[in-house]
Amino acid sequence: MDKALAQKVIDRLNSAKSPALFTHLRPDGDAFGCLLGLAHALQERGQSPTLHAEGGMIPMYKFLPGSELVQDIPDQLSSQSDLFVVLDTSTRERVGKKTIDWKPSVDIVIDHHISNPGFGILNLIVPEIPATAGILYRLFEMAGWKISPATATCLYAGLSTDTGSFRYRGTDAQTLRIAASLVEFGADPSEIAKHCYLSVTPQRYHLKKLTIETLSLKDDKKSGFLTIYPDFYSKSGAKSEDTEGIIEEVTSIQGLEVASLFEFSPDGGLRVSLRSKGRVDVNSIASSFGGGGHRAAAGIRFPKDGEKNRDLVLTAISQAIARLEN
Ligand code: 5GP
Ligand code: MN
Repeated sequence: MDKALAQKVIDRLNSAKSPALFTHLRPDGDAFGCLLGLAHALQERGQSPTLHAEGGMIPMYKFLPGSELVQDIPDQLSSQSDLFVVLDTSTRERVGKKTIDWKPSVDIVIDHHISNPGFGILNLIVPEIPATAGILYRLFEMAGWKISPATATCLYAGLSTDTGSFRYRGTDAQTLRIAASLVEFGADPSEIAKHCYLSVTPQRYHLKKLTIETLSLKDDKKSGFLTIYPDFYSKSGAKSEDTEGIIEEVTSIQGLEVASLFEFSPDGGLRVSLRSKGRVDVNSIASSFGGGGHRAAAGIRFPKDGEKNRDLVLTAISQAIARLEN
């Protein structure tokens, strides 16, 4: 982590009174963990942050301390806000369409996505830490800010969920050291795991079952893809956030290199999730279609031509796998 840059971020955060904190669309554990972890740290310092995520808080992460503070994305940045902070978000578009034309522009971006272009005035982008929550921990440590059990719980939840419970490739000694420190500051690993991994609703489970039944293996069983059709939601009663984690079921297949998940929206759009076991760089595949992410986990959004774009992405995956063999 660039110490001089981190210090500038700390100084800028210190100078605010009412910072507005935002994260990415379809927020996940790292997104909520970062919003709330930073909010607790700022509140300890007498600030009054506002927290925003698309759709507000989702039920799965309501156990996080302070979860009631999370609000939906407002129509305008509040005139009270004296700092615009974006966490864990790889592009300006992923903060949300209606925020694009907002003035003033983003003051601080804190993120771990290698594809992040740095769309803020200060950009603390640290790809070697596998979750933005881990970057926040290092920042608080450097600043000498108090890490309460509430802060530690939120950051640990972000670190755990974004590393697939400390299983993905980016999980290194530093990640585990950060996790250990967060436990010392009051995070309870088994309690957090119970909420993040052992609290699947029957609706979510039903959606997973419907989706897994669509599995198709190709490229000599080195790639596999799943499809979510719009009627899966009415059939299962699940919500859009309930798709999180389904793709990992495919990644678990022995010998598989790339897993993909295609979610068709009722208006013909397509959302793509890509996962690699490490040999194929799915960030470069996603980037070639205007998406992004990391080497082992990336995504793309197509506003239209879902079927055609699915075929194009599948072809790009086949080509990447063929290149491995040459
Ligand atoms: P997921 O498949 O879980 O939605 O996303 C995997 C990773 O890819 C995440 O790190 C996420 O930030 C990134 N990602 C997902 N969708 C998009 C997208 O449409 N554009 C960009 N730039 N990144 C994405
Ligand atoms: Mn993240």
